[in-house]
Amino acid sequence: MDSPADFVESRRPAGSKRSGKRDFIVDTFLAQTGHLTADDLVALIRKADSRISRATIYRTLQWMVDAKIAQKVDFGEGRSRYERAYRHPRHFHLICEACHRSFEFLSSDIESMLDEVVESRGFEVHKATIQVHGTCERCRTGSSTRDDEGSTERLFARDALRVAIATEKSGLAFYTRAARIVRDARGKQVFLKLADEEKTHLATLQKRYDELLAEDPQLDSRPAFLFFKGAANGIFASGVEELAAGVDDRKALLIGIRCERGSHKFFKKYGDRFEDSEGKRIFLEFADEEKQHMDLLVAEFKALNARIVSARKRRPSQARSTQAR
Ligand SMILES: [Zn+2]
Ligand SMILES: [Zn+2]
Repeated sequence: MDSPADFVESRRPAGSKRSGKRDFIVDTFLAQTGHLTADDLVALIRKADSRISRATIYRTLQWMVDAKIAQKVDFGEGRSRYERAYRHPRHFHLICEACHRSFEFLSSDIESMLDEVVESRGFEVHKATIQVHGTCERCRTGSSTRDDEGSTERLFARDALRVAIATEKSGLAFYTRAARIVRDARGKQVFLKLADEEKTHLATLQKRYDELLAEDPQLDSRPAFLFFKGAANGIFASGVEELAAGVDDRKALLIGIRCERGSHKFFKKYGDRFEDSEGKRIFLEFADEEKQHMDLLVAEFKALNARIVSARKRRPSQARSTQAR
């Protein structure tokens, strides 16, 4: 993955010179997590280096917007704000009208609702903005446990990892149980192999989660960024329940295929939609792995069916030969 500096470098117009001032303005802007007005940025820059003029800062800000490093947002305050666009996941905003701070979130339910609406109208979306205006907890009560938000990128990676971990856990429970109940020896081997893979994936995901925690020890207590109702309990949770009701080998494979397909589609759909980020990478890697699992189960299901058919062919012929005698 390229670093922010590489990205900024790649956006520089051909033939234009590297400018120390501009680099400094860009770095200062990218180091911020909130939504700055142009005046906020001017104050920040000039506090650090009063030789940089307001005009240079404005010009650089416009250049960042054109280069898609920054993005203009309008919270209805009569002036624009700017947030980073580079590796910033798509999101919606809660906006406090008292202190003018804003809080970012993303919800799968809102996204699927929007999809449904625009599809039914045959509408092509260029931009969708959701803003919730109100008063934040700190302005309402004078204190907040959820005040310091941390970076959206990191919250996103944290929440993506949580969804992936919940899915792996439910997958592990599913395959462990399936391996116990199937009667076919080959089917049992497949389920055991998948349970083993889920264990390995879980360890990898947990390790990445711990790395994020090391970067930000408060991370566990920060507010949620991603709201994924359907996936929060793990996509295989319903499959585990179905197994408990008692199923035969074919049905167990079919439930596994359905869960893997659901999981693959879920991670692919959101992974494709996210801006380039750690969260996107986690979702897309996961989508690939689920696809491989699904293909394995489909192959196993076909093989099992073939075995059943050939066993049936053998048995009736034996039956006929007995009758003939
Ligand atoms: Zn507030
Ligand atoms: Zn934002």
